[in-house]
Amino acid sequence: DASPPRAIPEGAAALGLPVAEAGARLGRQHLKALERLGVRTVGDALRHWPHRHDDYSRVVPIAELTLGEKQTVRATVEDARERRWGRKGAEATIADASGARMKVVWWNQPFVAKQLRRGMEIALAGEVDAFRGRPTFNNPAWEEIGGKQRHTGRFVPVYPATEGLPQQRLRETIANLLDRFADRLPETLPEALRERRALPPVAEAVRAMHYPGGEAQLAAARRRLAFDELLALQIGAVRRKRERLGRPAPAFEGDAVAGAFLAMLPFAPTAAQRRALGEVLGDLARPRPMARLLQGDVGSGKTVVALAAMLAAVAGGSQAALMAPTEVLAEQHYRTVCRLLSGEPEPPLHGAVPLPFLPEPLRVVLLTGSTRAKERRAALEAIGHGGPVIAVGTHALIQEGVEFARLGLAVADEQHRFGVRQRSALLGGGDADGGEGPVPHLLVMTATPIPRSLALTLYGDLDLSAIDELPPGRTPIGTIAVPQPPYGDLVAEGEYEAGRAEAFARIRDEVAAGRQAFVICPLVEGSDAVAARAATEEYERVRDEELPGLGDRVALLHGRMSARAKDEAMRRFAAGETAVLVATAVVEVGIDVPNATVMLIEGANRFGLAQLHQFRGRVGRGGHASVCYLLGDDPRPPEPPPADETGERRKQREQREQQAEERREAAAQRLELVAASGDGFALAQADLELRGSGDLFGTRQAGASSLRLFSLREHAPLIEATRREAETLLGADPALAEPRHAALRAAAERAEAGLVAEPH
Ligand code: ADP
Ligand code: MG
Repeated sequence: DASPPRAIPEGAAALGLPVAEAGARLGRQHLKALERLGVRTVGDALRHWPHRHDDYSRVVPIAELTLGEKQTVRATVEDARERRWGRKGAEATIADASGARMKVVWWNQPFVAKQLRRGMEIALAGEVDAFRGRPTFNNPAWEEIGGKQRHTGRFVPVYPATEGLPQQRLRETIANLLDRFADRLPETLPEALRERRALPPVAEAVRAMHYPGGEAQLAAARRRLAFDELLALQIGAVRRKRERLGRPAPAFEGDAVAGAFLAMLPFAPTAAQRRALGEVLGDLARPRPMARLLQGDVGSGKTVVALAAMLAAVAGGSQAALMAPTEVLAEQHYRTVCRLLSGEPEPPLHGAVPLPFLPEPLRVVLLTGSTRAKERRAALEAIGHGGPVIAVGTHALIQEGVEFARLGLAVADEQHRFGVRQRSALLGGGDADGGEGPVPHLLVMTATPIPRSLALTLYGDLDLSAIDELPPGRTPIGTIAVPQPPYGDLVAEGEYEAGRAEAFARIRDEVAAGRQAFVICPLVEGSDAVAARAATEEYERVRDEELPGLGDRVALLHGRMSARAKDEAMRRFAAGETAVLVATAVVEVGIDVPNATVMLIEGANRFGLAQLHQFRGRVGRGGHASVCYLLGDDPRPPEPPPADETGERRKQREQREQQAEERREAAAQRLELVAASGDGFALAQADLELRGSGDLFGTRQAGASSLRLFSLREHAPLIEATRREAETLLGADPALAEPRHAALRAAAERAEAGLVAEPH
């Protein structure tokens, strides 16, 4: 029933056609709405998954309709007319084969009266309501019998609501495109593999995602497509691993140097630190490149392990680099490294540190976007000269003109902020340049607690080490959740207000006692400038309304400030000159201030669990009892209905409201989870169980974008299965160059592109 399509390309090429050119009869507004959903091409539309299905598969006689159930009726129209109850609507009388009658109403949709003709055979689906003791439908979906059933009598897809595109319209558009193009979806999996793993063909799976015959078919479809998502990631991981393992790397005997370094420290390493370092040194001692992920909760002491490994590399005649995702973090690493090596609180002149186990002083250099020209030149010279250097920095380390003479070990901190490509760049392209020369060892550090099973997927090319123990003497942090209350629930709103008041009172008390506090601003969508403005407003509000009297002891820190101003704000806070730091997420992994005892997070519902846990880790670093408040957003009034609202618009508004309410409840639950557990790994696991997907890292998480259907809870066994299949496939065809693997190779390349995280 679509308008005649313009020249549709042959085969799979049609999937790249814009929806508008594929004969979908949609107006400009509708097309715009589709674009807002991320649907531009036919292929996008086929993979625009419904967020749920309504089960209207039960077709029942009118006499057997059950109040409150979702059911379908097949009947003949006896009468249909426009009615006016305040506003215009439509009312119909229908009768089924047994002769039983019912009245059906379409509020605010008078046009339905014109579409229904006496004698028309229709199916109606909806939730059964009652009127004066008799069953009825209000605004049911309906369609004429004889055509294709899309809205009634089956599992019906429900897509996330969008402004400007009615549900039925979207459903019809996708259903049409499915009919015409699903068979052109290229099958990525060899048939033997599909049979071995009992997976349906891709076209069948995509169809069933929208119009499943039942729950079992839907689950099989999801499993097939989750398999594809995982396999694409595993292929990339297995390929990178094979390529790296085919290359030589410098071997370092680092035990003696690492031991001498640990003996210099004012504290004894924990057993977990020793174990992790042992694994790293074991890798470094072999002439093939290490690729290891070091996981450890905030404050578990990863830097010490990384530094011991870097010293082993330097003592072995190489250079080492430590790359951090933000300037704040790079600068702190620089100071930490200098401090641990020299025993002095401030970096020594030119970062030159004499060490008993090195023949000449070690140069520790810092390279970030704000490094001044003169220092930058000096750093580049040291790096290029080939002497003993540890280079600490940001992405600046992997930019043009930075040429390490002898890079032997690259350490990347906070991996989830980097993509695979940045990681490759840090390794000097040596990761996958197709060459045969030596490549540096790679150590990736993350404080993001990733359950082992998920780490194996997202970081499938890395071996895992974990520091699962904190240094002794840390005081546990009490956490209090004050979630966003439902609007208009006076008791809940009262509790919320009391919780907020208590949080700020606690800050005032702690500051009076000489302690310090962080206030984290809510995440704001939009440009840096927008976020900076929001942070400034929050800062003024906190200073003037929440903490009056503290005046200029309240300071602001956000990403739009100059590096100099940021530095100054942090320095003054660290020195205790300011008492309260109102900050955006820049401090997330940044600051170490042992005197800070309160972490207050505004709009906590907008952050991921792992991020909240990281914020919390900023306090409790000294000997004082510390507390973390998770404040949800203010109660939010429902959207006011516009004066001329149509029935369809009302349905959409109500659906949006319901989704908002579900999100609010889920967010409250997540805050309670963080409050109940101080264990990052347990939190990550709980989050996965709650939501079933890898969403815990927030949208910036590398890899998460290519795992849309994979659910750890539902598909855990597929991790191992896809790993095996990736190894088999690449064993037989290492570059997936055979024509029958073309579609699979393309899918793997797309997934790889999704692994490029945005820099913070
Ligand atoms: P991470 O990077 O894992 O969050 P850091 O390496 O920054 O943790 O260590 C946090 C703090 O703990 C630093 O001040 C560090 O010097 C200190 N630290 C590290 N290991 C130990 C230990 N075994 N005992 C006491 N303090 C330690
Ligand atoms: Mg760290």
